Amino acid sequence: MNSLLKRSLCFGSVLIGLTACMGSDRDNSAAFADILFHSGRVYTVSSDPTWADAVTVTGDRISYVGARTGAESLIGPDTRIIDLDGKMLMPGLIDSHTHIFAGSISAQRINLSLADTLDKLAEALLALHDQNSGDGAVYARGWQNHLFPPDGPRKEMLDAVFGDRPVVLDSVDGHSTWFSSRAFEIAGVDAGTADPEAGISFFERDKTTGELLGTARERAGDIIRNALLSFDRSSYKSALEPWLLDAAAAGLTAVYDAGASAPTEQDAYQTLAELEQEGKLSLRVFGSVGYRFDDDDPAARLLDLQSRFTGAYFRPYAVKLYADGVPEAHTAYLLTPYLDRPESTGEPMIAADRMAELITSAFEKDVPVHIHAIGDGAIRMTLDAIEVARNTTGEHDVGATIAHMDFVHAADIPRFSELGVVAQTSIQWAAQDPSYDNIGAFVGMQRMHDAYPVKSLIEAGALQTFGADWPAAAYFSTYKPLDLLEAAVTRQLPGEIEMPVRNPDERLELSDAIAGMTIRAAMQLDADGEIGSIAVGKKADLIVLERNLFEIPAHEIHDVRVLMTLMDGRIVHEAGPGLH
Ligand SMILES: [Zn+2]
Repeated sequence: MNSLLKRSLCFGSVLIGLTACMGSDRDNSAAFADILFHSGRVYTVSSDPTWADAVTVTGDRISYVGARTGAESLIGPDTRIIDLDGKMLMPGLIDSHTHIFAGSISAQRINLSLADTLDKLAEALLALHDQNSGDGAVYARGWQNHLFPPDGPRKEMLDAVFGDRPVVLDSVDGHSTWFSSRAFEIAGVDAGTADPEAGISFFERDKTTGELLGTARERAGDIIRNALLSFDRSSYKSALEPWLLDAAAAGLTAVYDAGASAPTEQDAYQTLAELEQEGKLSLRVFGSVGYRFDDDDPAARLLDLQSRFTGAYFRPYAVKLYADGVPEAHTAYLLTPYLDRPESTGEPMIAADRMAELITSAFEKDVPVHIHAIGDGAIRMTLDAIEVARNTTGEHDVGATIAHMDFVHAADIPRFSELGVVAQTSIQWAAQDPSYDNIGAFVGMQRMHDAYPVKSLIEAGALQTFGADWPAAAYFSTYKPLDLLEAAVTRQLPGEIEMPVRNPDERLELSDAIAGMTIRAAMQLDADGEIGSIAVGKKADLIVLERNLFEIPAHEIHDVRVLMTLMDGRIVHEAGPGLH
């Protein structure tokens, strides 16, 4: 168990009436409830009971779950009584891997991911041009890989729209960047510039002349980005603040942020601290500390940041590592070569023994790890490294999560439960969307069919969780948890009932989908004693949904309105009228 985490969550002080220890300033000494929800369909995500019709909230905690009649003694003169009239009440949804800083800053700009044809993209680029007057650098994100050849979009297309402006456009997956000629020029990057790491971070080039085509893979783009873009902490804060309201309206009450930086990690936690102090942090944020390469010890830096920046609702939580990149950029590390680049399997982003050292160091410090691994080679290498670290330290309970894990090899599926590794997936990627054939041409259609085997993982005992990875995506970028619940059940895009179902054998029951964004996500975050289900003594992180997800067609789940969201007993979203 992560003792720092438990301490900061005040684990154990679950008696009703005790003063809250997570920053609530309410007076909880009265025995009466602040809110009574009744006549609802309360889905507890617990077995005892699974369904109830009434819940009370006292201060920051759930004080009663059961039949309405049992709650009478908790109703006082100031208790707000809410008749749910058959509506659904469930635990607040937890995203197990997302990027709230990068996401909210890109949400302020034109979203190129909505342009799913070249015509639409041309329109979006013109709109982007019109939106950005002056001569500074233009930034947006979301271009779809399937619109371009395997070596990516060309600088000339941007030059035609933006003329002599420097332009920096991130791909929808976040692992490639498209630049205009002027952007290369200002940064002093040209055909003579060496790739930072061959096969890992590189520029797409003309095969004969070495001329830059326009696309940089992975960190190769950082040289140019750093020369051109400078979002400061206040831009991140002013982007995050309004998005927190959107998150609450979507039913999110907690997230794991897999890349907390704004623009530095310290800035990210400082920003969260300020928002909390201003009473605006309506979301629990479990953050990351990333590996900076060479002799960096991210676990030690995490403990340092944790001691300086742990709030009531946020803390640096896990060390984030990258095992590889993404198939769209040919940077996912595969067990067999890419079909269109038969000389290459992709490269791991970190040496296997170094990864094992870093995980070992984290386990020794009781610090969880969270590792991006997409290719079957990267996933196997990561499982091997975790196995080494488990055996070296004897620590079998410190959290270890593999994120995304698109192409897990069948032979590795049982190892998740054997090694106590959480399987984390962005399940809205498991649709037969336009990325399917595009990526399939690189990695093979069999791999595409077998990808995201979430049901097999659950059946093999893995703790399977879901998170949007917003704003990154294989195709469909979203932060909304109901989109993910629907995708887990349908393996189609939200509402796209006509779409072919991608590997229907791996579709989940709704209860498993919900568990992956409630109790199992809470387990990934070592917070299941406090959040993730509705039980007396747990934190009151709750959402009210207009319709019961279990009683509607699966294709309508994404459309269900969240009428109310409570985080830590506070109403952080209320869509009125509707509840009274
Ligand atoms: Zn991510």
